[in-house]
Amino acid sequence: MANPTIKCLFSAAVLASAVLGGVKVTAAAPLQYNLQPQEIARDTWLLQGKTEDFSRKNGGNIVNTAFIVTKDGVVVFDTGPSFRYGRALRQAIASVTDKPVVHVFNSHHHPDHFLGNQAFQDSTIWSLPETGKQLALHGNGFTDNMYRLVGDWMRDTEMRLPDKPISEAMMSQGLEMGAHRLQFYRFSGHTGSDLVMLDKTTGVLFASDMLFFQRMLTTPHTPGLDIWRQELDKLKAMKYRKVVPGHGPVTEGSAAIDQMRDYLSWLDQRLKKSAEQGLEMVEVINLPVDERFKGISLSQAEYRRSVVHLYPAYEDAQF
Ligand SMILES: [Zn+2]
Ligand SMILES: [Zn+2]
Repeated sequence: MANPTIKCLFSAAVLASAVLGGVKVTAAAPLQYNLQPQEIARDTWLLQGKTEDFSRKNGGNIVNTAFIVTKDGVVVFDTGPSFRYGRALRQAIASVTDKPVVHVFNSHHHPDHFLGNQAFQDSTIWSLPETGKQLALHGNGFTDNMYRLVGDWMRDTEMRLPDKPISEAMMSQGLEMGAHRLQFYRFSGHTGSDLVMLDKTTGVLFASDMLFFQRMLTTPHTPGLDIWRQELDKLKAMKYRKVVPGHGPVTEGSAAIDQMRDYLSWLDQRLKKSAEQGLEMVEVINLPVDERFKGISLSQAEYRRSVVHLYPAYEDAQF
């Protein structure tokens, strides 16, 4: 999720110009996400977002969403950044199957992951209980901010809360849909309430924003870098064949987990040492990220935001 800072307030809308009869007419180009589902495993389809920040050019399509087609219906994992995206996701699903969408899961309370919910009126939308509470408290504020960040892509988007909290029974027993056995896990490193789903049938791990890959991670709601790091070790120990991060490309093996863990350790040390040396926040913000992270999209920008989110606690720990 983006830092609440409004960066692109006045960025230009996508405009197409034409000269008609000597009169220059400027018309908005149609805003279309053109989602292309990629089959990443049997019955399993990914809509991969860009490794960018929210903008009026990408309409907030910076997130990975996915769906699994089973003989009992379709399961959707995250619904994207807007009502328009949710409708495009439904079209993408309809291009692959005529089965109904039965279950939708919202991985956490960041707006790029749940604002497509409105397009799934006829499905049951589930989230972890704490995620539902966070959405009830902050969801409308996130929605307003998205209007400012991506503009008209958001037209008619209103927050639709999840219908049901995932019960303890569902957490422990999982969910069988057709031949697919889905298991759910509660993590907390990214926002305090992060849902991870493993399809035990295909071995695809839907890691939500517990994992970013080749796109720098965001930290506005992390309960702590050490917590996140420990949970990455748990993720790594799980049995999976493919990992779908919340942002960035799908991987086999642990490349995404290793990259994240390396960065979180480095960031923790950077902030600790800076606080020990008595550096001011602005000085820490202006330090460069280590060379090995420079190839990751948005590394310097997200590093700066993370310093703003996290450095005060490191300074406090000095006293
Ligand atoms: Zn996200
Ligand atoms: Zn997030």
